[in-house]
Amino acid sequence: LVVFDQVVKRYGDHVVLDHLDFTVDRGQHVTLIGPSGSGKTTILRLLMTLEQVSDGVIMVDGQSLTHMPGPNGSLRPANEKHQREIRKKIGMVFQQFNLFPNMNVLQNITEAPVNVLGLDRAEAEERARDLLQLVGLEEKATAHPTQLSGGQQQRVAIARALAMRPEILLLDEVTSALDPELVHGVLDVLRDIAHTTDITMLCVTHEMNFARDISDRVMMFDKGKVIESGTPEKIFGDPDHERTREFLGAVL
Ligand code: ATP
Repeated sequence: LVVFDQVVKRYGDHVVLDHLDFTVDRGQHVTLIGPSGSGKTTILRLLMTLEQVSDGVIMVDGQSLTHMPGPNGSLRPANEKHQREIRKKIGMVFQQFNLFPNMNVLQNITEAPVNVLGLDRAEAEERARDLLQLVGLEEKATAHPTQLSGGQQQRVAIARALAMRPEILLLDEVTSALDPELVHGVLDVLRDIAHTTDITMLCVTHEMNFARDISDRVMMFDKGKVIESGTPEKIFGDPDHERTREFLGAVL
């Protein structure tokens, strides 16, 4: 469903992703781990088209996210309109919840389905209420973000991402900004989603128990490359690389 083919991302002279290749199959849950600055967040930002590749190709569901047909059978860099169509398949939840502060919970969740997907409001609201039930917040539909805890806001952000019916859900350290006692509730919701839906997940996290529970595959990054990839049992139990052992030793 997702293919990175020789993807390079540079900021000036700084190579953040170095000829990166990997694929994620439909329905897979893949967790990206590795030291700070190793390029994990950049991968999610490229998929959301918040950044553009310096080189290489990204494919999503058989379509190029990075290129589009140019004149005479050539290829040229994808424009915004081309990327916007493909990006509809992808939802993202950020470390900072980024809810719309002037809208209540229901409005936050229905805004994009109504305005981007063209759903009628009643249908969007019905779906939003189902999603609020999924994240355990059905009684908060009319609350404003400022009236919610960080954990509740993050659960609304998860419902908002799912309201667009994405095929792929990107999770970027979604519990890092939360007080420790609120982490658990958010991770439980995500476990539930991972185990009960067929959504494809790409997840950057420092919560190794969570990664172990939900992942089909764990990819260990260092300096913009995947140095090791395997099942959670393998990566957490018997990693091949010294660098992986060091990293896990420091975070577990
Ligand atoms: P963390 O766990 O700290 O979020 P990460 O593995 O997700 O780390 P990235 O956020 O992908 O790492 O960042 C990789 C590198 O790219 C970092 O060294 C960062 O400083 C650099 N970087 C990211 N965005 C920019 C930018 N807009 N301009 C310049 N450098 C950037």
